[in-house]
Amino acid sequence: MAGRQDLAVSVTVAVDRTHVAVVGGGWAGCSAALTLAEAGVPVTLFEASRTLGGRARAVELGRQPLDNGQHILLGAYEQTLQLIERLHPVTSQASLWHLPLTVELPPDFSLACPGLPAPLHLLAGLLGARGLTWRDKLAAARWACVVLGHAEPPDQLTVSQFTQGQPKKLRDVLWHPLCVSALNTPPEKASARVFRSVIRAAFGGRARHSDLVLPRCDLTALLPAPAAAQVAELGSAIRLGCRVTRVDATQDSVTLGTHDNTSAYSHVILAVAPQHLPALAMQVPALEPLGRAVSRYSYQPIATAYMQYDPAFRLSRPLFALNNGPAQFVFDRGQSHGQAGLLAFVASTATHLPPDWLDLAEAQLHRIAHPGPARWRKRIIEKQATYSCVPGMARPALRTPHPRIFLAGDYTAGPYPATLESATRSGVQSAGALLEQL
Ligand SMILES: Cc1cc2nc3c(=O)[nH]c(=O)nc-3n(C[C@H](O)[C@H](O)[C@H](O)COP(=O)(O)OP(=O)(O)OC[C@H]3O[C@@H](n4cnc5c(N)ncnc54)[C@H](O)[C@@H]3O)c2cc1C
Repeated sequence: MAGRQDLAVSVTVAVDRTHVAVVGGGWAGCSAALTLAEAGVPVTLFEASRTLGGRARAVELGRQPLDNGQHILLGAYEQTLQLIERLHPVTSQASLWHLPLTVELPPDFSLACPGLPAPLHLLAGLLGARGLTWRDKLAAARWACVVLGHAEPPDQLTVSQFTQGQPKKLRDVLWHPLCVSALNTPPEKASARVFRSVIRAAFGGRARHSDLVLPRCDLTALLPAPAAAQVAELGSAIRLGCRVTRVDATQDSVTLGTHDNTSAYSHVILAVAPQHLPALAMQVPALEPLGRAVSRYSYQPIATAYMQYDPAFRLSRPLFALNNGPAQFVFDRGQSHGQAGLLAFVASTATHLPPDWLDLAEAQLHRIAHPGPARWRKRIIEKQATYSCVPGMARPALRTPHPRIFLAGDYTAGPYPATLESATRSGVQSAGALLEQL
């Protein structure tokens, strides 16, 4: 695959012309590099790992082609979906699977949004939900109308404070699981303002914005690899397995150092994860306050368990919500990826996983299906999967105090939490801001 090998190598760069270095080959960096290359600007993309995609990438576990974590998108994540569709013009149907929103949590709860214009589809879904009393349904519909209205919650409010007036059952089966899966932050710590942005994006626009969108191929193949292949085709360079360790910025250029090379660039986009930003930012005096602010972030893990059952087994739906255990969702990769009999269990905010959490996740599955014994089980725990999306978080702008250095990444200022959409949008917008300056 194009994204897994060096596509070209750039060594010497003159700074009397524009040449941009993008540091980080996650979804933000790949989107930024593609935007610049398509605008005719020469780019060198540095990625520390041998595989593109960062926190959303293909992995191989015991020869099994998997992802570092099962991902899901919302229909509202328009920048990401458009870019994927553009990069897979013929096969976009085969790359993404749009499912109208349903939440299936048997036997306690189910909600399906019918094919009506938004937000009527949500209101009809809530009123028709199984497992709620009429009092719960009316309370949910009234609250949804307030959330979709114009008033923003106060900056310091948490999600559990925001949902305080809602019946307990609604908080337990709907609002709080939505918060955990969208923000990867427990409701008692999560930002109500960012949560409301996600709800408004999903339910306040077009009906298709609330679709659940599943990848149908591995995450590297979905966007990073085809974006990088396009960048290389346009004559720019991709350097894999190449960590940037030194940054030296003057008024005229930015010099980057790697293990084997030092080169100067006219501009740099730092598209690394927030946990990796301070080490680079602190080398540039103008960026020290930024580096210090980001170093105060805290992080939340996400654990994914893959379990292989008899290939003839399939769930009755592509995904189910789960409760009373470590996992919040189970996905049928047979239906989405053609990996027959393979299920992916996702445990967000997985800070206190018990040692037997795979057994507990299987017990959660057994409440809804009986697949027989697992042939193998594998797990991946991303300890710093996302920053904790807490109230009042300082999220930096794409332009930094240094005129030649820009940022991109899921933690930069924007309406959404740490998601593929935040990453992709920031990459495209950061490249746009840079292009404006040329
Ligand atoms: C397990 C898991 C599940 C998730 N589930 C979802 C989901 O369902 N839906 C959703 O929308 N989002 C989900 N997310 C979040 C989403 O994956 C991230 O928000 C997104 O991938 C972040 O992209 P990024 O480009 O901003 O950062 P990253 O992906 O972190 O990319 C930064 C890149 O920079 C590289 N790098 C770092 N330092 C250097 C250096 N010095 N030199 C060169 N390269 C460097 C890193 O190797 C990395 O590839 C999930 C994340 C995880 C981990």
